[in-house]
Amino acid sequence: MIDLSKIARANIQKLRAYSSARDEFSGNEGVFLDANESPYGILNRYPDPYQSELKSVLANLKQVQPEQIFIGNGSDEAIDLLFRIFCEPVKDRALTFAPTYGMYDVSAEINAVELVKIPLNRGFDIDLEEALKVISDQRLKLVFICSPNNPTGNLISIKSIERLLASFHGLVVVDEAYIDFSSGKSWVESLNRFSNLVVLQTMSKARGLAAARVGFAFGNPSVIELMNRVKPPYNVSSLNQQAALTALSDGETFEIQVQQILQERGRLKGKLLELKSVVSVYPSEANFLLVEFVDGQSIYKELVKRKIIVRNRANQVNNGIRITVGTPAENDLLLSELIKIEDEESTVY
Ligand SMILES: *Cc1c(COP(=O)(O)O)cnc(C)c1O
Repeated sequence: MIDLSKIARANIQKLRAYSSARDEFSGNEGVFLDANESPYGILNRYPDPYQSELKSVLANLKQVQPEQIFIGNGSDEAIDLLFRIFCEPVKDRALTFAPTYGMYDVSAEINAVELVKIPLNRGFDIDLEEALKVISDQRLKLVFICSPNNPTGNLISIKSIERLLASFHGLVVVDEAYIDFSSGKSWVESLNRFSNLVVLQTMSKARGLAAARVGFAFGNPSVIELMNRVKPPYNVSSLNQQAALTALSDGETFEIQVQQILQERGRLKGKLLELKSVVSVYPSEANFLLVEFVDGQSIYKELVKRKIIVRNRANQVNNGIRITVGTPAENDLLLSELIKIEDEESTVY
């Protein structure tokens, strides 16, 4: 087993968390004169800094211990915290597999951490040989693996992730923002096998709560304890904790919506493949399709003109546009506008 305390930055290992008087008193009933709150109003009290109720619901749902859960202001907060806890600015490094989610880059940059990028192979999977070489670097502290990957949509092979977990002296962070749309199993189930595994999930995608900003990190209790120590004490508001609890309590709506999106993903893919402006649609385990167009740039511009906003990924994947699966009506609108664009620019296609 890896001694994780040796991997964290020395200043973080020494850090004592901010404590409030409420730490010494648990219970909702009492006369609270400790935190300089207003005695009036409905949002007048600070939220539970440990999000105990939400953690107990999640622990049950994910079959983990509450001590294995960190709750953040979106999973983006967890990404930033991992850099701050484990990477010494200017000295340490992290690894990603390109193309992938842009926040790893931004967080690395903010924390003055060099990000090493290994290109994904032709099937958008990890080049294991190359990765095993890079992770022997003692200054490398974090490896981010997005699976299903954004923007390519595929799962990363289990074998590669297992090999990296078994071989790496630092943390392997598997970002599962899209896991609910996927046929793959969550890595949360493997937490007890690998002490250096951290799994990120979010309420922002399948759970339909992007506005509330609630994300999760699941990991070894010693890593989670460091994250809780470093986070701002009241990082998830009462409104957001409540929104998350409400969403998690309605499993039925969640299942129906996911099924609807998966069905639409298949239908949309079929219709896109009929268009002459489309070269190919990559396989997807997420709620979006990565589409290669004949001329991605002009399609993107034309769609924006028609107020249809998609994600131009041309700089990551040749002529690639990432299209989120919407409602049936939204997807139909996208398709009919694409047909109009083709008709108007008939010389191009
Ligand atoms: C959307 C997304 C997230 C979600 O971030 P939140 O801060 O929880 O909204 C995380 N990782 C990836 C790969 C994503 O695409």
